[in-house]
Amino acid sequence: MEERRTIGYICPQCGQAVAEERTAFALSAGPQAVRCPCGKSALTMETDGLQFRVEVPCGICGGSHRAQVSADAMLRGKGIALSCPKTRQLCCYIGEEGRVRAALKELEITAGKWKDPEASHFADSLIMYEVLSELKESAARDGISCACGSRAYAIEVRPGAVDLVCRDCGAKLRLPAATDEDLDSLCCQYRLRIPGRGGR
Ligand SMILES: [Zn+2]
Ligand SMILES: [Zn+2]
Ligand SMILES: [Zn+2]
Repeated sequence: MEERRTIGYICPQCGQAVAEERTAFALSAGPQAVRCPCGKSALTMETDGLQFRVEVPCGICGGSHRAQVSADAMLRGKGIALSCPKTRQLCCYIGEEGRVRAALKELEITAGKWKDPEASHFADSLIMYEVLSELKESAARDGISCACGSRAYAIEVRPGAVDLVCRDCGAKLRLPAATDEDLDSLCCQYRLRIPGRGGR
């Protein structure tokens, strides 16, 4: 049976997963383009017989990336994943159909998160940065303490939140750090008190 490859990426224009199948023969025969049904992006590839030059529209950063892939990896075996050099996230899969489609499904979700301004990683980290500098100020005026009497604590950064953890009793105070409101409510608190561990 002839070897078939599925080529998949996330369209940076409309956000959908694009996947098409090609036979190894067609891939070797000449330049190929895999187009998004929206018509606004296309992955292109051409080969000299030894290497494939692939140009991938990147659904993660919105740009487009070039990659060189050996003909062997392109046409046979498990398949390959190409990553966005800017964000280090995977942005393209080439290989066996079931695997490519499963990976694309996850990628679609990841790419959506990166693009959606509400859930954007970058927006989060800006708020996170402000929250952390606010905490630094509180710490500088000795405004952080635990109900157990300790003033030693650690700061643990979580997705969308910061935990203040008492080094003596292990109690935690979770400060949301995802929205402007989170930042505002933190700024109103002159002192932060970790609740302390019950029973101690
Ligand atoms: Zn599209
Ligand atoms: Zn990229
Ligand atoms: Zn404590």
